[in-house]
Amino acid sequence: MEDQSEVKVSKKAAKKAEKAAKKAEMKASKKAEQSGGDVTTEVDDCSRGKYGVMPIITSTEKLDRVLVPVKSLNGDEKGKLVWCRGRLHTSRAKGKQCFFVLRQQFATIQCLVAVSEDISKAMVKFVSDISKESIIDIEGTVVAVEKSIESCSQKDVELHVKQVFVVNESEPRLPLQIEDAARPETEEDSTEEKLSIRVNQDTRLDNRILDLRTPTSQAIFRIEAAVCDLFRNSLKSRGFVEIHTPKIISAASEGGANVFEVSYFKGNAYLAQSPQLYKQMAIAADFEKVYTVGAVFRAEDSNTHRHLCEFVGLDLEMAFNYHYHEVLDVIESTFVDIFKGLQQQFATEIETVSRQFPMETFKFLEPTLRLQFSDAVALLRNNGVEMDDEDDLTTANEKLLGKLVKAKYGTDFFTLDKFPLKVRPFYTMPDPNNSKYSNSYDMFMRGEEILSGAQRIHDAKFLSERAVHHGCDLDKIKAYIDSFRYGVPPHAGGGIGLERVTMLFLGLDNIRKTSLFPRDPRRLTP
Ligand code: ATP
Repeated sequence: MEDQSEVKVSKKAAKKAEKAAKKAEMKASKKAEQSGGDVTTEVDDCSRGKYGVMPIITSTEKLDRVLVPVKSLNGDEKGKLVWCRGRLHTSRAKGKQCFFVLRQQFATIQCLVAVSEDISKAMVKFVSDISKESIIDIEGTVVAVEKSIESCSQKDVELHVKQVFVVNESEPRLPLQIEDAARPETEEDSTEEKLSIRVNQDTRLDNRILDLRTPTSQAIFRIEAAVCDLFRNSLKSRGFVEIHTPKIISAASEGGANVFEVSYFKGNAYLAQSPQLYKQMAIAADFEKVYTVGAVFRAEDSNTHRHLCEFVGLDLEMAFNYHYHEVLDVIESTFVDIFKGLQQQFATEIETVSRQFPMETFKFLEPTLRLQFSDAVALLRNNGVEMDDEDDLTTANEKLLGKLVKAKYGTDFFTLDKFPLKVRPFYTMPDPNNSKYSNSYDMFMRGEEILSGAQRIHDAKFLSERAVHHGCDLDKIKAYIDSFRYGVPPHAGGGIGLERVTMLFLGLDNIRKTSLFPRDPRRLTP
């Protein structure tokens, strides 16, 4: 499902932007002419040497200058003279002064350069002509402001500029404006006029490096990195070993469909659809508890809000003693560690995302709510859904179930255990108490699947029987089945989609927002 809320830039706005860009372009070329592409030249300029375009940095000298992070500037720094590097976010020249905003990742600070004894008119003009998104070094005094600056992250101070140098200039014509890409999608903002200057998803993705500069994107990818870190740390603390599995494989891991074929010297190979078989082989090789974080490829022509052709899989596999719930307990606790870690250590980033894309705080229980598949069917049937005991959940039913569970149990995260055997892959262990079901589970966040897992069959003979029952060609999976011939402990595990976890934790509407450079059936660039 594509974003409905985002509309194309209106013709009027586009025309206006074009006019502004042309003007900026003319200004920039005039400026270059005046400055000779270098620092200031006017002899009677009292700001001479305090502004200009820096020569390209080729690492000729090591400058002994400390660049202070913008986010560290607050009232405590009042009166200090500091150097900062950032992008020129916006600027507004008025008479003998120019206000501009310096942006560094998701920190912004208001800066003022005004004609005075040691600031020339030419310097103010130079600053007002710098194109947006250029990288600049500025030296300025930290000054406390009387009225909080709501449009900046640093609200109680501004910088009174003494020196400005352009380190690297941006072309004046930007394919999208960072301010537009960062505009909140709140109810109040959905007036026609405001909507006209939102940026649609394709424009964002075509110009991804600009879109990634918004505070929201900066926050999203820090949160995503944290999901990985927390996943790793949680499992490491439980004695898991990180492994790396091959991505080029000789046979399709999850059956023949949905697999990308690549040439491999004189023959062909496939891109791995999952590390499943290799993590199980690591269990057969006595690593006992393993996890892996890596690219997973799916050649599915699924143009939805939650499918990518390449995503990051967080996979784990664990040997257990007597019951696969030993593994389920570990997976659920790992998720709780991730959610808690995010909420405790990334509150600012979460808040940043929610300012642009409002969401309800993610709720979870401890211990995790675990329902049986049959409970879910009963809940759905009580709410008007017609389905058989052994039907898989449709996307719509998953969503509805998420809502019903939230209303009944107050959680956005839960496990569904004991899926019908017939909807799971051949290597899934059947439920010993009811042959219609299996020792398999899915986990859900805000009503969407984020993990699939199961106890795997660890007996070669039984595995072959189930493969034949599923119509698999035994020759093609010989290496897999053979790895169970030399004694394998009982084991279970699961696979998680990183981009889906990030998307759903943040209540976002599209997985492309949480993939740095998404790959889908229609997009292979940038
Ligand atoms: P779905 O039914 O949603 O297509 P699946 O049943 O094919 O998913 P699995 O093969 O079990 O998913 O993969 C495990 C997890 O990997 C999923 O729960 C999901 O988080 C993630 N995942 C699967 N397919 C994709 C995809 N195409 N894009 C992004 N993430 C995916």
